[in-house]
Amino acid sequence: MFQNLIAGSWTDGPLAYQNINPSDTRDVIGEYAQANASQTQDAVSAANEAFATWSLSTPQQRFDILDAIGSELLARRNELGNMLAREEGKVMPEAIGEVSRAGNIFKFFAGEALRLAGEVLPSVRPGVGVEVTREPVGVIGVITPWNFPIAIPAWKIAPALAYGNCVVFKPAELVPGCAWLLADIIHRSGLPAGVFNLVMGRGSEVGQVLLDDARVAAVSFTGSVSTGKRVAAACVARGAKFQLEMGGKNPFVVLDDANLDIAVGAAVNSGFFSTGQRCTASSRVIVTDAIHDRFVGAMVAKMATLKIDDARMAGADIGPVVDERQLAQNLAYVAIGRNEGATLAFGGEALSINANGAPGFYMRPALFTETAPTMRINTEEIFGPVVSIQRVRNYEEALLVANDTPFGLASGIATTSLKYASHFKRHAQAGMVMVNLPTAGVDYHVPFGGRKGSSYGPREQGHYAAEFYTTVKTAYTQA
Ligand code: NAD
Repeated sequence: MFQNLIAGSWTDGPLAYQNINPSDTRDVIGEYAQANASQTQDAVSAANEAFATWSLSTPQQRFDILDAIGSELLARRNELGNMLAREEGKVMPEAIGEVSRAGNIFKFFAGEALRLAGEVLPSVRPGVGVEVTREPVGVIGVITPWNFPIAIPAWKIAPALAYGNCVVFKPAELVPGCAWLLADIIHRSGLPAGVFNLVMGRGSEVGQVLLDDARVAAVSFTGSVSTGKRVAAACVARGAKFQLEMGGKNPFVVLDDANLDIAVGAAVNSGFFSTGQRCTASSRVIVTDAIHDRFVGAMVAKMATLKIDDARMAGADIGPVVDERQLAQNLAYVAIGRNEGATLAFGGEALSINANGAPGFYMRPALFTETAPTMRINTEEIFGPVVSIQRVRNYEEALLVANDTPFGLASGIATTSLKYASHFKRHAQAGMVMVNLPTAGVDYHVPFGGRKGSSYGPREQGHYAAEFYTTVKTAYTQA
């Protein structure tokens, strides 16, 4: 049994969760303890007590610990990547890449602990000086989704610790394996007991405590829009700080003048890699008339070459869907698209076994053409390998269609025109814009986040993370 980490001790839970490999459902990865509400409160108590001393730790202490965590993640990237691929279904190169990213994030924030700057300003009053400094916030509740089981926890936990906060980490139910390995590395890094706690369990029980407990000063949440709204309502009600990263329906525009290979490569990557289970995936591809038919032909040809297989099989391009419920949702959206009158140009069917005959949650990536902006497949987040193409007359119409969504996480364009690339970067209503690149796949040292219905609160990653994980103090001194 893999246990929770509460107040520096590995602790059993009243229940256990069986972690299943979606590439081969006969493979049970392990039993993971599920905390209950009172254990979660114990974790909050421990974090709250530890804050008194950890908030006063030196930047050197924090640097050393975060740097050591980053080094171990990088050294064990293959092993942890194997766990990630096994429990979430991301193919090995992507899984190892995600662990590397997590390691680099810890190293980046190790440096940030040393770089935390303030300001000294002259007062408007004679003889008075003003200092603006940043202080830690307190206990941070970290609530994460299943689709980036190590990178997203890393980009919340690392800045929280770097700026002197304590953490209670509640990972998604489906991916306790990566969470436990990360917690084990953090636990052995030399952090005082209680500074970091792991509570695996249900969102409605464990997660809800983090939303409701007055000792949790701030909640950093990534997940669905519906859960995000609950997080927001609970935090507003008790005046807690919160940040939300939620869904997307990201557009990728392909203009007549695009390099076809670049456009197809970026669209296939953004739409289908990681089995389409990335919040930055582009599920709406908006293509101008003159290139439309050539683009669709090249997409279908490229999709036919993708190898769908066990995530840990060498050469696999696309692994399984994360679980049965998500697979059923994806297939339901394929049926919805057909009923709405879209043309299913490729794929969309379930494949119940992989190349070795092992049972898993596989599906062939789906491509819809001749779709209308109002169709549900163009307005609702599917979170699977389902892409729809919309045909437009020109750039101006493409931009309107791209922005016609309540979401605003990422947005992309394939073009060789400096004029259109520049205009799109300026006018795309999204937190992140990509030119001749997939909408998914971002650096670890620059801000990540969206606008409109995709995000709320300060950006994550990079030195912008200080906005959420610190609180500003303005001090006046009469000389
Ligand atoms: P989810 O909302 O179902 O769960 C997210 C987390 O919230 C889980 O840990 C869950 O246990 C917890 N939770 C559920 N109910 C809760 C409650 N009442 N109180 C507190 N916590 C609760 O999301 P998911 O299915 O794990 O992830 C997929 C979603 O995440 C997609 O919508 C995707 O777009 C989004 N996502 C967004 C980003 C981003 O940065 N914008 C990144 C990755 C994933």
